[in-house]
Amino acid sequence: MAYDFDLFVIGAGPGGIATARRAAQYGVKVAVAEFDRLGGTSVNRGCIPKKLMVYASRFASHVQEAAGYGWTFEPGKFDWATMIEAVNHEVTRLNGIYQSMIDQAEVALYQGHARLADFHTIDVAGQTVTAEKILIAVGGTPSKPNIPGIDLAITSDQIFSLPQQPKRMVILGGGYIGCEFACVLNALGTEVTQIIRRDNILRGFDQDIRTEVQDAMIRHGIRIVQDELVSLEKHDQGLRVNLKNNTMVLTDVVGLAALGRKPRLDHLGLENTRVEVENGAIVVDAHNQTAESNIYAVGDCTNRIKLTPVAINEGCTFADTHYGGERRVMSRDNIPSAVFTTPEVATVGLTETQAMEKYGEAAIKVYRTRFRPIYYTLPQLEEKTLMKLIVHVQTDKILGAHMVGDSAAEIIQGVAIAVKMGATKAGFDATVGIHPSSAEEFLTLR
Ligand code: NDP
Repeated sequence: MAYDFDLFVIGAGPGGIATARRAAQYGVKVAVAEFDRLGGTSVNRGCIPKKLMVYASRFASHVQEAAGYGWTFEPGKFDWATMIEAVNHEVTRLNGIYQSMIDQAEVALYQGHARLADFHTIDVAGQTVTAEKILIAVGGTPSKPNIPGIDLAITSDQIFSLPQQPKRMVILGGGYIGCEFACVLNALGTEVTQIIRRDNILRGFDQDIRTEVQDAMIRHGIRIVQDELVSLEKHDQGLRVNLKNNTMVLTDVVGLAALGRKPRLDHLGLENTRVEVENGAIVVDAHNQTAESNIYAVGDCTNRIKLTPVAINEGCTFADTHYGGERRVMSRDNIPSAVFTTPEVATVGLTETQAMEKYGEAAIKVYRTRFRPIYYTLPQLEEKTLMKLIVHVQTDKILGAHMVGDSAAEIIQGVAIAVKMGATKAGFDATVGIHPSSAEEFLTLR
């Protein structure tokens, strides 16, 4: 049977676009459907605008630090509306770049909500089209727990269009998004209370890293409260956040819910196919294939690691396999990630606990250093960097590298290449450092 397209991609986020472009490069006929702006969460409501806000938030401390180097500045003034406008302007520019990437790759774009009518047929933008293969890359949306008044809380989606900077903000959740926005808003002058339900933020990260960054965030002025959210209600002074231990926090109009994300599968027509869904996510095998053999899925709509570069890698692997004659499976070992808090967190490989569980305590050696980077000496600030390596004693291989401190993401990205290639501690020791830098400390751990 002849289909309208060889491949129909639902969702024009980083995963969907990467797949569509790679497939088109191999000469197949590809279409993409998107009901929103091009670029998905990452470009429009996630990684990119968030990182720009992280940069905006760090100027206040840079000014303070500059005094140690002899600079004096007039008291500065921050304008929230200007930042929001600039960030959104950049997002619009990126939407245009995504559009030209699609155009150049000669991928057809359907602007509308796509719904599967059956396993080869898609209803989109008032049309019905058919495709030999379908790739679902619809991403996710913030999830809100079923708590009275939770709709009074905004999510990370809305933070980028808040017309005014909140004077006070309660942030619910101690994950990536909660921690990043707690730091951004705190540094911009908002009074931030972050409510977490465990001892430490950033569950899943190395315990030393969690403690280090949490202590630094508290030192920088964030109030971290360990408690459980019971309800939210309106109050004559804004919003009242009621907590389990009979305490409450009054905040401005907003409380940011950053309590995880869920796949965006509503109205997708999955019931018209054999695609299986488990815990709200599409079930796929190592080849991104669903239970419907011609339908595949990548990125945050599947139950795997929710990171933009992972979605891109999954998509490219799919395209290479099906259209490039290169059957491969994406490697999921040693996927690095960063949390753009201040100070920054970045990590690759196993945490100390994971390594101990996997190999036993005697089989691993942990190297750790904590120091004040040279940059903070003249301003006389007690900002610290923590670095940690987990090494397998028998093979000398680096099992994990973790860092809290300035440029952690940039540094760990380089370390991640070495770890992925099987680097040993002896290899790190034999590498000549770049002096003076913080990164060189990874090479002198004893
Ligand atoms: P996370 O899963 O990272 O964190 C969710 C947080 O909410 C956790 O602290 C969790 O607590 C808490 N939580 C969940 N449910 C409740 C509840 N009912 N009551 C109280 N607390 C609750 O989700 P995020 O929304 O922060 O981010 C979603 C994903 O997006 C991340 O997992 C990450 O993959 C990705 N992301 C990546 C970024 C990056 O690479 N820099 C940046 C932003 C997002 P607990 O830990 O106790 O379960």
